[in-house]
Amino acid sequence: MAIDFTFAPDVEEARRQMRAFVQEDVAPTEERLLAQSAGRTDWRAELDRLRDEAHRRGVWMPHMPAEWGGVGLGPTALAAVSAEAAKARFGPYVVNCYAPDEGNMHTLLHWGTEEQKDRYLKPLCQGAVRSCFAMTEPEVAGSDPTLMRTRATLHGDEWVIDGHKWFISGARGAAFAILLARTEDDPQVPQAATSAFLVDLPSEGFDIVRDVETMSGSHNHCEIRIVGLRVPTANLLGGRGQGHRLGQYRLGPARLAHCMRWLGQIETALDLMVARAVDRYSHGSYLSEKQGIQWLISESAIELYQAKLMVLHAAYRIEQGLDFLSEVSMAKHHVANTLWRVVDRAVQVHGALGYSKDSPLADMLVQARWSRLADGADEIHKWRVAERVIEAYKDSGTTGVATGDLPL
Ligand SMILES: Cc1cc2nc3c(=O)[nH]c(=O)nc-3n(C[C@H](O)[C@H](O)[C@H](O)COP(=O)(O)OP(=O)(O)OC[C@H]3O[C@@H](n4cnc5c(N)ncnc54)[C@H](O)[C@@H]3O)c2cc1C
Repeated sequence: MAIDFTFAPDVEEARRQMRAFVQEDVAPTEERLLAQSAGRTDWRAELDRLRDEAHRRGVWMPHMPAEWGGVGLGPTALAAVSAEAAKARFGPYVVNCYAPDEGNMHTLLHWGTEEQKDRYLKPLCQGAVRSCFAMTEPEVAGSDPTLMRTRATLHGDEWVIDGHKWFISGARGAAFAILLARTEDDPQVPQAATSAFLVDLPSEGFDIVRDVETMSGSHNHCEIRIVGLRVPTANLLGGRGQGHRLGQYRLGPARLAHCMRWLGQIETALDLMVARAVDRYSHGSYLSEKQGIQWLISESAIELYQAKLMVLHAAYRIEQGLDFLSEVSMAKHHVANTLWRVVDRAVQVHGALGYSKDSPLADMLVQARWSRLADGADEIHKWRVAERVIEAYKDSGTTGVATGDLPL
């Protein structure tokens, strides 16, 4: 049988190392820091210490090749290791494998010139700087990037850019942005109208208006006014009219990388749900002995199992060089919704404690809500999946190829 759900020993070792690091150091440090309402200035020193420790333990950048200082894992191995990292909220950051830098690293690795890699990718991999990715605009639907209005015009050896962006994660404090703007007036296809630029930050003409206050507070998702921003032609990333392709290339694996981290969060929520259910006593028995609560546990377990298999299979398709768009869309939709539902059920089982900030679940719930919007809203993924299912039926008389193309 060719199907084997065990990982090679080196991958198991990478997973074990990440788990040990998160359990022994990241999670306890995080718990201590979050418990301190004051003293936030200590955070920087602690996070830097954890990052040094990640280097020392060999878990720094599991997603990047060894020549860039990473562990060099392929997509399936990365699924296992990223899920471990995400069992603590700080985990992905301290191992330098978090959004948006992770996606930007992949983008630069595959689309950057040697000079661009040296100037932008190198410090990003060293953890010396952070970056952001600026695509979405408040005036037009982010779900349809062909509507983008931010415009770049060529003047000699510089591009001059004007526009408006928002929800640009990590913009404040970033050393550079990958900025998408319209450059082509008459493209062959609407998707070929935009290009990507590397913008050094801070730059005159790239003004952070505010942190957009979200339902979970301010998390450096910024609104940005771009007025007469000048970018040298050498900072065009991936060629004229390639912005949409580059965005899609970035988003496919980046969406799956989100799913990998969400798996860790779902498992944490299920662990918390069960821990509470076996400990809380009401009406003559523990919550875990009541069928109504068991249904919540079993539904969550079934959905998490599905989520793990979908992520592994989509990662396998990326690794094998197979078409992965539909599988990544299905996985992203399922895992994002599973995250939302499982955290919500865990809140329910915790009662008032789940609604309070004494438990991590309240924060996890509001964080979970964006997973169904960002990197493709639920409806967009369902639309794309349906398109491929219908196409497969029309082409071959069966939908089989569009449901994972599995030998079943
Ligand atoms: C926490 C967070 C972080 C983000 N970080 C970044 C970032 O770093 N950089 C960046 O560029 N962007 C970022 N975004 C923006 C994100 O990519 C967009 O929110 C997303 O692309 C959706 O665009 P929109 O918000 O304009 O929604 P719209 O496109 O206006 O869509 C609104 C809703 O309409 C529905 N809809 C839209 N089109 C269709 C359709 N064809 N069929 C059916 N229903 C449809 C969906 O329900 C959708 O949720 C972030 C968003 C969040 C919430």
